[in-house]
Amino acid sequence: NVAVKKGQDIKKEYTLHEELGRGKFGTVYKCKEKLTGRCLAAKFVITNRAEDRKDVEREVEIMRTLQHPRLLQLYDAFDDGKKEMCLILELIEGGELFERVIDDDFILTEKACSIFTRQICEGVEYMHGQNILHLDMKPENILCVTRTGNRIKLIDFGLARKYDPTKKLQVLFGTPEFVAPEVVNFEMVTYKTDMWSVGVVCYVLLSGLSPFMGDSDLETMANVTKAVYDFDDESFEKISAEAKDFISKLLIKDGDQRMSAQDCLDHPWLRKDKMRKDTQLDKTRLKRFVIRRRWQKAVNAFLALKRMGATINL
Ligand code: ATP
Repeated sequence: NVAVKKGQDIKKEYTLHEELGRGKFGTVYKCKEKLTGRCLAAKFVITNRAEDRKDVEREVEIMRTLQHPRLLQLYDAFDDGKKEMCLILELIEGGELFERVIDDDFILTEKACSIFTRQICEGVEYMHGQNILHLDMKPENILCVTRTGNRIKLIDFGLARKYDPTKKLQVLFGTPEFVAPEVVNFEMVTYKTDMWSVGVVCYVLLSGLSPFMGDSDLETMANVTKAVYDFDDESFEKISAEAKDFISKLLIKDGDQRMSAQDCLDHPWLRKDKMRKDTQLDKTRLKRFVIRRRWQKAVNAFLALKRMGATINL
């Protein structure tokens, strides 16, 4: 069990190395535990405001309860008591799944997509079994364990919440392209809210197309609430009926009708014993999608910096 260490100097226990990634809230560096020589990741989050500290404390609390091979593990946590908190995390060296998949060395097949989707569902099923909603399922939060293997892990529990069915939980966050209609409508969120996002991720992985993407966030959100999408594009020509059936049982406006993570694992498309087509998928659109998301991420990071009041010298 990881307790947050208050007022202790992280540099006494860990040496910090190169930056691994950056999100809206945190910057992540590679680091090494001095005592054991173990390589880990250190995620620094600015906690100027009391709410920020509460958010990180919640993230720590949730991560402590989540111990599963498909989920990023928390190792240690620090709070300098002033402006910064740091989570020491298991190091994941394979990079983001979508970056890996668009690499020229990687041959993308429907089978590969179903292997990845199965693992996503395994992670989500475990979380839901622990009564936790992720609420930020998107490609950037799915990492590959190694550069060459097929194993993935889900990361970033910054928006995750404990689910209490007796209480109404509404949220006002997430990424428009991936959030469920109930999030956009500010209605109750449930386990099925994550399952919608799994459906969107799977749709993008197979086709490179984002099913509800509009010209603006507002338009995207309007498309999400309508929950209207199709498999008409030529990218879906080679995709099996089973894969389409899988997605269509997740992208349903009424959350009650959507598959649970367990239902997904039982679906023929994810069943291990099933034979699947190995035809290579065209990655042109997926590459375009990843490049667009990279840009968006850079813009978001810039806006976050601006919000923090940093002076930027261009
Ligand atoms: P977001 O803006 O998506 O909410 P965040 O600020 O909460 O992000 P994370 O998503 O946790 O931050 O981390 C930012 C990036 O750092 C990730 O997208 C990933 O590329 C990298 N990263 C995070 N954790 C690890 C880890 N344990 N090992 C390796 N890289 C990591």
